[in-house]
Amino acid sequence: MSASPASPASPVSVTVLGLGLMGSALAEALLAAGHRVTVWNRTASKAAPLVAHGAVQAATVREAIEASPLTISCVLDYDTQHALLEPAAGALHGRTLVSLTNGTPAQAGATEAWAHALGASYLDGGIMAVPHQIATPEAFFFYSGAQDPFDAHRTTLAALGAPKYLGTDVGTASLYDLALLSGMDMMFAGFFHATAVATSHKGTTASGFTEHLVAWLTSMLGMMPLMAADIDSDGPPVYEQTLDLVVAAARNMGDVARGTGVRPDHFDRTVAELEARIAAGETAYSARAAVQHLRVPTRG
Ligand code: NAP
Repeated sequence: MSASPASPASPVSVTVLGLGLMGSALAEALLAAGHRVTVWNRTASKAAPLVAHGAVQAATVREAIEASPLTISCVLDYDTQHALLEPAAGALHGRTLVSLTNGTPAQAGATEAWAHALGASYLDGGIMAVPHQIATPEAFFFYSGAQDPFDAHRTTLAALGAPKYLGTDVGTASLYDLALLSGMDMMFAGFFHATAVATSHKGTTASGFTEHLVAWLTSMLGMMPLMAADIDSDGPPVYEQTLDLVVAAARNMGDVARGTGVRPDHFDRTVAELEARIAAGETAYSARAAVQHLRVPTRG
């Protein structure tokens, strides 16, 4: 990402509220794309590097919002965001608010209703990148909410990373964001567990072992589209194992954890769950059944 401003065909005015690691990266990307950027942050000193690259620092949230037709908010959480925006709410009338703060679909829905009641347009977004990836080809962003503000600001938002619009249901971006983060979180939990087990072996380093783990998981990633097709279909699964085989392997994974001084609780829970399914008469392990068994009744 370059800090020297490019000259977009149509430079626009954009406000960024929140200059943590992510908000600063977003503001820097907008400056690098040649836009006029106004910034505000609780800790005012964090604006200094951005001001050095051409940003205007606003003294208040209201002043920041009034500087641009588009305000991007990226702070710790929705409670923080609402507390910042509420005193300046009147300034949002006729403007667009894009929240890139991490939150839930319910929070997105409440913020959309609040913004619309003020006469503001609203888009909810999910950032699928870490700060150093912003404005690189690896970064992509989910957006959901009304189509008009997305169409109006798509080109500006594209300076941050590829924009993926998920439709008018405003909660979809945060649903997808949190689902992807859940997948990442469990993947890293698997990495940490596997590394703890393997490095119990004298002379095995995490770096050496991780070469094998990455090769294995990369090959297993190829299974996901096949499994997804099974989850979507009503027909016989393309990929299936016996529950007996899967529970036997899970028992071994729990035992090797116990034997190497690593917490076995994940596998103990898995074994108990699979044994209950076998006791209930199930014989097959498939991705479709695995997903079905994760579902819990929701209150209607
Ligand atoms: P961060 O570096 O911890 O910054 C947090 C921001 O929230 C700062 O601007 C901070 O202001 C502000 N803030 C916190 N409490 C506040 C309060 N009570 N009143 C006013 N402002 C307050 O976090 P970040 O990495 O920028 O993350 C911002 C959002 O982006 C989060 O929702 C995060 O989940 C999301 N995100 C982050 C990443 C990532 O890799 N970092 C990736 C994807 C999404 P001060 O500077 O004054 O403390």
